Amino acid sequence: VCWSARGGWHRPRVQPYGPIALDPAAAVLHYGQEIFEGIKAYRHADGSIHTFRPDQNAARLQRSARRMALPELPAEYFLQSIRELIAVDGAWVPSGEDQSLYLRPFMFAKEAFLGVRPAQKVAYYVIASPAGSYFKGGVQPVRIWLSENYARAGKGGTGAAKTGGNYASSLLPQAEAYEKGCDQVVFLDRDGNVEELGGMNVVFVYKDGRIVTPDSDSILEGITRNSLLQLAEDRGHTIERRPVSLQEWRDGVASGDIVEVFACGTAAVVTPIGALVTAAGEEPQPSGELALSLREELTDIQYGRREDKHGWLYRLDA
Ligand code: PMP
Repeated sequence: VCWSARGGWHRPRVQPYGPIALDPAAAVLHYGQEIFEGIKAYRHADGSIHTFRPDQNAARLQRSARRMALPELPAEYFLQSIRELIAVDGAWVPSGEDQSLYLRPFMFAKEAFLGVRPAQKVAYYVIASPAGSYFKGGVQPVRIWLSENYARAGKGGTGAAKTGGNYASSLLPQAEAYEKGCDQVVFLDRDGNVEELGGMNVVFVYKDGRIVTPDSDSILEGITRNSLLQLAEDRGHTIERRPVSLQEWRDGVASGDIVEVFACGTAAVVTPIGALVTAAGEEPQPSGELALSLREELTDIQYGRREDKHGWLYRLDA
């Protein structure tokens, strides 16, 4: 679907996958005015196709749009775009353990001009790709590299928006993480508080059952994290969303107060963090049962194996 300042949203259509023609002066190519979402479609045992909390993705896309001076796509258009893509051929949604169709809605500035200002012409697309299990051979704890040289976001910056530039700036620290034998990088804010990984939120489990997760205006508000924390709250855990310093993390692990550390996001759902790695060495992290048990409960809901008591599923093929 297209948007212009004069005509609003117009020309919704499904078209064959292929290249997009862009003017070389299109604003997105120069100023990075671009946002996106990530969401999955799941096939249940009875063959029906569902997605998970799409209202949350629609709302986050709107928040990202506001920050990036792009127009807000109405939530009903967001839902319609996903439904119509699935309607072309539901067979794209694979069946089987941990299989899904990953959907990537995205919006970018296509107006051609060279001054720096919000574009008046924008395009919104959705593409899709089958996604298999994130882990080969079962969920594995990941090793996390502490990014001490690079930040992912700054105060008042675009950290809370799902915009390409945040990911561009995380590529070099991510490459550093791989070089150090790690799977992921964890970012701190300038006060030394823990933010998130390149594409996942971080959660700490305390011995007394409290669950603590970083809160700041430069973190991407993960829908997986919100959902897992809701399920934990349902089980009687207390949830704290507040700044968490690196010092608190280290002290908590050293004293045994922190009993589990895990990361979560749409792609991997939940991955335990097995080690925090810095130039000074490796700090092993405690492991427990809660992360995997919450993972199982959430995926059971997503795949229709357990009651959806919060009404999170949204049927796409009916
Ligand atoms: N943080 C970042 C930077 C991400 O890219 C993602 C993935 N969208 C997340 C957190 C987790 O968000 P969600 O649970 O909605 O996938």
